[in-house]
Amino acid sequence: MQIAIPTVLDIQYGALEKLEERCLEHGFRTLLLWCDAFTYTEVIPHLQWKHLYVQIEKIEDGKEVSQLAADAYDLASVDAMAACGGGGVIDQGKYAAFLRGLPFISIPTSASNDGFASTTCSLYQQGRRISVPAAVPYAVIADLDVIQHTPEEMLLSGVGDVMSNIPALYDWQFEADAGVGRVHAFAAMLSRNAVNSFIRTPMQDIRHPAFLKELVSALTMSGVSTVISGSTAPISGSEHLLSHALDQEAATPGRHGIQVGTAAYLMCLVHEHRSERLYKVFSRTGFFDWVRAHPLNREDWIRAVEAAPAIKPKRHTYLHEEAWRKKAIHLLETDAVLAELFTP
Ligand SMILES: [Zn+2]
Repeated sequence: MQIAIPTVLDIQYGALEKLEERCLEHGFRTLLLWCDAFTYTEVIPHLQWKHLYVQIEKIEDGKEVSQLAADAYDLASVDAMAACGGGGVIDQGKYAAFLRGLPFISIPTSASNDGFASTTCSLYQQGRRISVPAAVPYAVIADLDVIQHTPEEMLLSGVGDVMSNIPALYDWQFEADAGVGRVHAFAAMLSRNAVNSFIRTPMQDIRHPAFLKELVSALTMSGVSTVISGSTAPISGSEHLLSHALDQEAATPGRHGIQVGTAAYLMCLVHEHRSERLYKVFSRTGFFDWVRAHPLNREDWIRAVEAAPAIKPKRHTYLHEEAWRKKAIHLLETDAVLAELFTP
């Protein structure tokens, strides 16, 4: 079996200025570059192109998956495709490149989730978010000059997504013990190392270069672990099912990493496994402070716990068993730390 992992991995200050050089090195002479509104006006105009032919397009967020598929077939003929911006444009570009069989260059400007390095895309179907499979990016280029200016909510969302590896791995083992699938040891090791390396980083300043580099690296390693296992299981367990259920059930779903981070804390309490570690990281980075200032709706969360198993009926996480769903709901109603994260 052959496993494709990203060929180019460039996480540093000034990485974007080297985009042309990287493309030419890998034999790409023509590039289709999708941008969101921010990168189209604030980032890409600063770049200069000498030998690379680049077609730059501004992409609207929230396009329906059927429209995206239709658009993909009308794309210009190019050597490679890139997307520069937040999760929305990255996921659209990744999917269009996948449909066209083009190498995809992922250039995230925020570190809000691990989607920029993973095989799946979060897209829209009838206005609701759904997960769609695609290929792993050929290159990940993360310019810390740009990521440094990401709003706090985005960075904290990235923190939530990295920390969710902890309950996800616990659920994966639980599922394997129940005879459903098996744990891929190498993928599990990558996911575990990503989060364990991250939690050793000083966290007083989430814009510190060392912190940003560690956050982006951890998210990248998490994304790559899904390529190796051939599923999202190493980084996505009950906490992600809960977030996906919220995306479908809640009147106004929140940001992915904020939802999965909070759900990760809840599930670690259910698992009675490493919740103190999540408490420390979420306290030190300001994750809990942010959620307290933007509280969640408890009724939505209780409904999402009940709806979570149906999101992936073939899996067997803790939330697939009624007793653990009851425990999760009981914690949502009684835990003192969680109480502060929800509207009274
Ligand atoms: Zn995630």
